[in-house]
Amino acid sequence: MPKRVLSGMQPSGVLHLGNLLGALDNFIRLQAEHECFYFIADWHALSTNFEDTSKIRFYVREMLLDWLAAGLDPDRSTLFIQSHMPEHAVLHLLLSMITPVPWLERNPTYKEKQENIEGRDLSTFGFLGYPVLQAADILLYKGNLVPVGVDQLPHLELTREITRRFNSLYKPIFPEPQALLTEFPKVPGTDGRKMSKSYNNTINLSDSEAQVRAKLKTMVTDPARVRRTDKGNPDVCPVFTLHKAVPSPQPVIDRVNRECRTAEIGCIDCKKLSADAIVGRLAPIWENRRKLEQQPRRVEEAIEAGTARARAVARETIAEASEAMQV
Ligand code: SF4
Repeated sequence: MPKRVLSGMQPSGVLHLGNLLGALDNFIRLQAEHECFYFIADWHALSTNFEDTSKIRFYVREMLLDWLAAGLDPDRSTLFIQSHMPEHAVLHLLLSMITPVPWLERNPTYKEKQENIEGRDLSTFGFLGYPVLQAADILLYKGNLVPVGVDQLPHLELTREITRRFNSLYKPIFPEPQALLTEFPKVPGTDGRKMSKSYNNTINLSDSEAQVRAKLKTMVTDPARVRRTDKGNPDVCPVFTLHKAVPSPQPVIDRVNRECRTAEIGCIDCKKLSADAIVGRLAPIWENRRKLEQQPRRVEEAIEAGTARARAVARETIAEASEAMQV
């Protein structure tokens, strides 16, 4: 039996270079080796954005375009939108009956997000319970493998605990999902911090070439290199990290690594080389997006096919889980 990979992405903004290099590239690689189910987690987006939902549908549409344009293949992967599948809500309800509240309260992201996300009310039942929805997302399709970084392991552990509890209380119908540990490259944003929509420092997949080049020009560099004649240190420069993450061609990386230290290359030229590499990486995606925008039916068909495949599995699981719980 091939292993089934399960993963989702929240449509809480347009996709950026960090999402591409960190997650989407990995999704694309995995579809060559496994049976993959990828979904757009719009209900999860509600957990932190319920006060302003005006952009969620727009982000869902943008994400679909980016997914397909970047190379997710609807003939190889099952692509769907979470809210098109009410079975996620049904399994969430069934699993919520057996999940102790302290398990959710001790979830590290629960406290961290409550403290760090300012100006939003995160004291909701939905926000506390989102790991149960995550468990439902995975178990509904009996996912065997979940691609995660080390920092997300506690979430998966909670899903595994819920799985064990269900299997021992009722019937062992769910496989315990395993982590597919993935090393995500560090992608700095234009301000040098991690690229993230919350920091407003992103290079988006939907940006134009002119926007990408303009953003690169404003990117922070080695703070100690003030004048053109100052010698720089690429090891502390976010532009150099970007060169390695995209990546720029190896001779370019080697040249920057050498010539920055001797002040032979200036930051303006170095950033231009990085922008060239990013534009080279994004150009095929832009071209595919342009074609897809002219053929909206192709996008609809991808989702219709994925939803039909996902629904067949989801319905069977709900029938099995209900039978096991005798409801
Ligand atoms: S030359 Fe490049 S690596 Fe060196 S400080 Fe400037 S931007 Fe950074």
